[in-house]
Parts: sequence; structure tokens; C-alpha cells
Amino acid sequence: MMGYGTGAIMAVPAHDERDFDFARKFQLPIKIVIAPDGWNGQENLNEAYIGVEEGRLVNSDLFNGTPALKAKAVVTAWLTEHGLGKKTVNYRLRDWLISRQRYWGAPIPIIYCERCGTVPVPEKDLPVLLPEDAEFLPTGESPLKYHESFRKTTCPKCGGPAERETDTMDTFMCSSWYPYGYLSPYYKGNVPFNPEEAKYWLPIDLYTGGIEHACMHLIYIRFFTKVMRDLGLVDFDEPVVKLRNQGIILGEDSEKMSKSRGNVVAPDDLVQKYGADAVRAYLMFGWRWEQGGPWDGKGVEGIYRFLNRIWELTLEKVPQANSAEAEKILRRKTHQTIAKATKEIENFSFNTYLASLMELSNVMAKYKVEIYATASWEESVKTLLLLMAPACPHITEEIWARLGLPYSIHNQSWPKSDPNLAAEETVEIVLQINGKIREKLVVPIGSSPEELQNMAMQNEVIQKAIAGKIVKKVIAVPDRLVNVVII
Ligand SMILES: [Zn+2]
Repeated sequence: MMGYGTGAIMAVPAHDERDFDFARKFQLPIKIVIAPDGWNGQENLNEAYIGVEEGRLVNSDLFNGTPALKAKAVVTAWLTEHGLGKKTVNYRLRDWLISRQRYWGAPIPIIYCERCGTVPVPEKDLPVLLPEDAEFLPTGESPLKYHESFRKTTCPKCGGPAERETDTMDTFMCSSWYPYGYLSPYYKGNVPFNPEEAKYWLPIDLYTGGIEHACMHLIYIRFFTKVMRDLGLVDFDEPVVKLRNQGIILGEDSEKMSKSRGNVVAPDDLVQKYGADAVRAYLMFGWRWEQGGPWDGKGVEGIYRFLNRIWELTLEKVPQANSAEAEKILRRKTHQTIAKATKEIENFSFNTYLASLMELSNVMAKYKVEIYATASWEESVKTLLLLMAPACPHITEEIWARLGLPYSIHNQSWPKSDPNLAAEETVEIVLQINGKIREKLVVPIGSSPEELQNMAMQNEVIQKAIAGKIVKKVIAVPDRLVNVVII
């Protein structure tokens, strides 16, 4: 109870089960302040009334009748208006014991002197570094405690013999500000990091990690940032602009991977068998990134075959050919894929990003013999490789080099989609009711009769015309018309 709110004890015996029991036991008065309609607030309760949802305030002077759900806001507003109080947020941040009895951690820069007591290590002697020759013995205590030359030192105040603190800081101390520390680890100014680097890099644009960090690391890193903000070291409030949590990939039995269950899939074995690109691409393709799911041993083989097809598609020569129609289709697909893959990768939708590349490769495979060695074919090949490079960095680099393209694929610009090339070709069709033209509609060329029928039936003019009538049949002629026959 002492840790709740300000520490002042609030008791509401009529409306809290524990308070009710307490009041009963010690025969304290039980005053009803929330009651459903029809109560007068004078009943003898057999148990706490906790109907906050439907209750209204009673025995509450000028607040009588206020719905209980609104009472906090109404009372707070009244207190504010009368200068008696105001709304505030109490954070339940508690003191944090940061000392740990272990080697790996930042040493706590404190020296103990028999004459001077507890003395901080002077700033000029910071940082205190861990000794590199500590012995890890099963003593149950920090190896630093048994490291004489680390432990024994001289007092910075009196110069007499003294001892160092051998506890180290909780590793959360370091992870709370590592994005700041990593900016300029050798910076020698009188603040902890180079302000210019901080200005350029921070706050973090995008932070990814497991949900398990939600309630410790992420709170600490925010807390550190707010302290640094108050100290004037940074000029922003939050260390991270955007946070994304990834899902967990489970064992093939849909359980969390663990040694004891024996369902651990070892990436090293798979990399050995299929290569790092196939494993990496499968990790992106197999699940929605933020969801995860069970491992599928066959899935990685599918990706492996896809990579083999890409190898053949891009490197195996066929006779030169030049079909204007195929060229148009392929360029359209290529530029549509640039737009789609770019959007998907930015949204962390890596599975649909890879799916869009598979689609493009299928269209390329279909038309390869019709346009091989044309500029459009080469555009498709380069685009496919560039779009694939983040997922499959090795095989794309290899193919890129074999095609004689400039090193490295990873130094090239990301392809840009040309909306004109990406646009579906369209045709104007007419919508008829009983053979009479009622409306014109622009649709993608080659839309199927079913697609045309759906578009026609969703059209407002047609919907009005058929309202209250019976549709006998719908005739759709691709690229020309849809006729709705009604009676
Ligand atoms: Zn001393």
C-alpha cells in the first residue's frame, strides 16, 4: 500500500472488496458513495458494491448524481477551478539497485579509504577499466574481488592505501545509453558524447527488437534520455521515433525453440546446406515479420529453388529476340514491382516484398525468349537483382559481377519506379441496361468478364437503375461492354 500513489492511504470500504473486509473486521463506518439508480445510499451492504459502470455518486454533496465513470474528471475539474488541486501523473518509477557481483559490467568508480571514507574516482582517472586477466573461479563472487591489483589502489584524497568497489553496474546501465555512447566512443570533450554527432544521428529513426524489452530496457533508455534532456545534453524527449517488435520463430512443433524440447533449428547447419542467402531470405519470407510462427523445413528448400531459378533466369543465354508486346508487359511489371517492393520493405512486410520479386521473376521467365538481350530485358534483370540485394546480398553480388556490372551491387542506387510505365493500360467500355448505354467506365485492358461484371454492379448509375428490379442476366464482353438485363 505504501508504494501506491503518494503513500497516503485511500480507503473506499463500500466499493472495494479488500477495504470492505477491513472495515467490517474493525467495525468502521461503511459509507456508500456510488449507487445504481433507485438506491438511496442508505442500504446495509453485504458486500462491496463495485458497479462503477452503471452507478452514480450519492452522499457526495454537489456531485450527487454524477455518473461514477465521469466522477474523477468532474471532481478534478472542480478542484482545479477552485485552486485546490490539479491533475497530475504519478510515475511508478522506483529506485533501481544497479550494483552487480559480476565481472562483465562498467566498474562503479568508487574507492574506499579507511581515513576518508567513500571517495569517488576523480574525473581525470575515468573510466575505470576492467582488468583483462581476471580469474573466473567458482567462488560465487565477482572475480574482481579476488583481483588484487584491481582491488588495491591509493586514495585520491589522502594518497593512503585504499580499495576499489568491486561490484559492477547492471548491464542495463550501459544499454540505457549505448546509442549515445557509440556515436563517439573516443570523444574527449566535457560531455559524454560528441554533440555534433548526436545532432546528426539522434533520435533513433527506427528501433527493432523483441517485445521482452518493453518493460525494462525501453523504459530505462527513455528515462536516461529524459535526464539528458533536462541536463541540456539533447534537445529531444524520446530516444526513438519508431519502434517495431519482431515476432518469434517457433520450432516445427509450434513451441518456442529450446534445447530441452529438442526443437531448435540451428541456422549454421542450414547455411551449410543451402547458403546464407537462402536461409536469410526464408527468414524474411516464411512469416509476417512482426508475427513469426512455426519453422517449416520445406520452406527453406522453396527459397533455395527460387534462388537457383534466378541464377538461370539472369545468367543463361538464349537467342536474342525483340517483341514489342512482351517488352511493354515486362517493363510494366518491372516498374510496378519497384513500387511494390519498395513500399513493402519500408513497411517491414518482408514476406510480401519477396513475393513481389517472385512474381516479377515469373513474368520475366515467361517472356525471356521473346525479348532476351533487349534494353528492357536488361532493365528487368538489373532491377530484379537490385531489389533482391537486401535479402540475398551474396548471390545478387555474384550475378551482378558475372554480368559485368560495376562493383558493387550494394553501392548502386535503389531503382525508381516510373509511374507512366507502371500504369496498367486501360480501355473505355460502356455499361448498358437492357442494351441502352447508361455509363462509360475506364478499366484495365484484358479484364475478365467476372471482373467487368463486378465493376459494373458496383457502379452507382447501374446500382440506381437496377434498384428494385430483377437482374435476369449480365453479359460482359472484355474490352467492350457490360450489358445488364433487368425486368
Ligand atoms: Zn583517504
